[in-house]
Parts: sequence; structure tokens; C-alpha cells
Amino acid sequence: MDNQPIRDEFLPYGRQSLDEDDIHAVVDVLNSNYLTTGPAVSEFENAVSSYVESKYAVSFSNGTAALHASSYAAGIGQGDEVITTPMTFVASANCVLYQGGTPVFADIDSETYNIDPKKIEELITDNTKAIIPVDYTGQPAPLDEIKRIAQKYNLIVIEDAAHALGATYNGNKIGSISDMTMFSLHPVKHITSGEGGIITTNNEEYYHKLLEFRTHGITKDPKDLNKQDGPWYYEMQSLGYNYRMTDIQAALGASQLNKIDSFVEKRKEYVSMYNKAFNDIGEIETPYQDSKGSSSWHLYVIRLNLEELTVDRKQIFEALLKENIGVNVHYIPVHLQPYYQQLGYKRGLCPIAELLYEEIITLPLFPAMTEKDVNDVIKAVKKVIQHYRK
Ligand SMILES: *Cc1c(COP(=O)(O)O)cnc(C)c1O
Repeated sequence: MDNQPIRDEFLPYGRQSLDEDDIHAVVDVLNSNYLTTGPAVSEFENAVSSYVESKYAVSFSNGTAALHASSYAAGIGQGDEVITTPMTFVASANCVLYQGGTPVFADIDSETYNIDPKKIEELITDNTKAIIPVDYTGQPAPLDEIKRIAQKYNLIVIEDAAHALGATYNGNKIGSISDMTMFSLHPVKHITSGEGGIITTNNEEYYHKLLEFRTHGITKDPKDLNKQDGPWYYEMQSLGYNYRMTDIQAALGASQLNKIDSFVEKRKEYVSMYNKAFNDIGEIETPYQDSKGSSSWHLYVIRLNLEELTVDRKQIFEALLKENIGVNVHYIPVHLQPYYQQLGYKRGLCPIAELLYEEIITLPLFPAMTEKDVNDVIKAVKKVIQHYRK
């Protein structure tokens, strides 16, 4: 292959898009009286719940803490089974382990790569307590089918929408549909607060539990106290954590949220460029989209048709890195991680996800990319595929 890389400068697979407004929002907090647990946090929460059309939103120090809190609020504990997908980041399943519950992995649909509702139903037992679907790459999971199953078996749905801020399902905003929905505000996600996470819900009981969990299980609300010793008095009524978001983070998050629709639009524009460029390349499968959802496109994942290539995914991946394209793989199936293997999860549990893992590559996609960046990725992919095609 031609040794001259397509790009001189490395292009990451994802990164934040910050502007002067974001910087000013943070500086304003630094000049104010509160760095944490001040007014910016509730302003941000109100902005998120109004954007996703949910009754409540509760912010956390990161998305993983938010998932942990939702697992607590759902009452997940020892002996409870929670069904989730293996094609996700480890946090989607770890939040069940944190609470002493047992993650159960349901295999994915071979077209959407989202959790397969038929597999969910097969795995339900008397101990099943909840389902944690993930809106993989930003494409909503099959929420209608999941809701139907949840109602039939009396299960709680915690949607991991770390990829799906700005996505819709049946025309409704993601964040307004499941019992609880989690968004991550890590810099590679749609909007960022540095680190951060948020749960949206329409359920008042979950809302109160989430608030309590993120601040040590402590309440000062007079109507919840067992007695009143004086104005200083508070009670720790459950074992919570310090999972609060700072005002610095919240101000950044709120400023970023103002731009979410234009961010998603940019992502869609770049996805169309990719789709158009790759549609007639037989060695590549572009992402299939189900018509009920509208993806917010956190990730653009191509699947290699390895039978038509002379090498495997690793070599294609390394060749793209040599072109200075920051490719990635999302995800290593969670049950194949050494920790999960030690817990007894076996290879073969989710064959569709395991096979997919061998064949996927995530291409760079973020709103701060330029059209030239997108065209560089396209050129690099064409160059590498051209070189390795049979
Ligand atoms: C990013 C991510 C998380 C965790 O969010 P953090 O804010 O990084 O803790 C959980 N689930 C999925 C699917 C993610 O992509």
C-alpha cells in the first residue's frame, strides 16, 4: 500500500465541541458563590427535563454513578436478575453488580445490533426484576416490544441512553419513554459537562430515591424526618454515595444543551456522506436503521464482510490507524471481559454479539469534524479496502 498516509494529523473517533459560550458559562460559575450544589445544577436539570419532555431529571457526577443510582431506585438487590445487552460499555451491566444483582445477557438483533426482545422474553424467570436496554450507537432499542414485555412480567425498564440524547422513537424524545433513562455527559458523547450523567423519569418515587442516593442517603426535608432536633438537623436514612454534579459541570452541560439539535444535525449530515460513499462497497455493511426510531448518531459503525477480504478486522483497523484515522471498536461484549468470565459467564452465551465483535470498526464522527475530515476518512477506508479486497 502507498506509504503516504491520507492525513498528517490524527483524527480521533470522537471529541467535544466547545465554544466561547461554554467557556463563559464555566467562568461565570467560578466567579460565583457556589462551585457545587448551587443554582446551576437545578437549572441544568430543568433544561434537560424540558428538552426530553420528562417530569424529572436528576444529575450525577458521571453516567456510571447515574446508572448505579437508577439500579438502587429500581430496588435491584441480591437475588434479582436484570436483563441487558452484551454489546455495550461495561457500566450498563456493572450497575447491577454494584447492587448485588445478577446481570443476564440477552443476545442482539443481527440487523440493528440492539437487544433482541425475543431473547429477553426467553430469559425471564421469577427473579427477573428489570431490563436495561441500550440505545446502541444512538439508535433507539425496540422500546415498544420492551415495554410490552415489562408490563406483562411487571419489570422496570432502565434505558441506557448514553448514546441517544436527541434521538426519538415513534416521534417521542428518548428520555420520556422508559421508567428511567440515563444520559452520559462524557466528552465523546453528544454534549459534555467534563464528566457527568443524568437520569430522567416521570416517576416521583424514583425521583426521590435518586436524590437521596446521590447525597449519602441524607435528607433534610422536614416531612421525611423522624424527629426535629433543630435547624441543623438531617438524617441519613439509607446508604447513599457522594455522586453529586458540581455547578461547574452543570453550567457547561446547560450551555452545551443549547446546541444539541445542531450537533445532531451535523452528525446526520456526516452519516449521509459516509452512507453515500460506502453503499456500493460490497466489503462494507453500513448501519441498518429501524423505521420506528430516529438515531442521534453517537457512533458510526461499519461491519466488514470478511469473506470478501484477504485479512481480518485487526489488519484493516491497523491500516486505518496508519492513515491517521482514529478508529475504535464498540464494543467487546461485556460477558467476555475477564471479570465476567471469572463470575462464570461463558463464550457462546451471545453468539450474534460475539460474531459482530469480530467484524466491526467505529469510524470518527463528531460535530467538530469538518467535511474534509469526513472525506479523509472516506478516502482512507476506500484505500484500505481496495488494497485488501479479494
Ligand atoms: C459512556 C457510557 C456509559 C457510562 O457513562 P460515563 O459518563 O462515562 O460514566 C454507560 N453506558 C454506555 C453505553 C456508554 O456509552
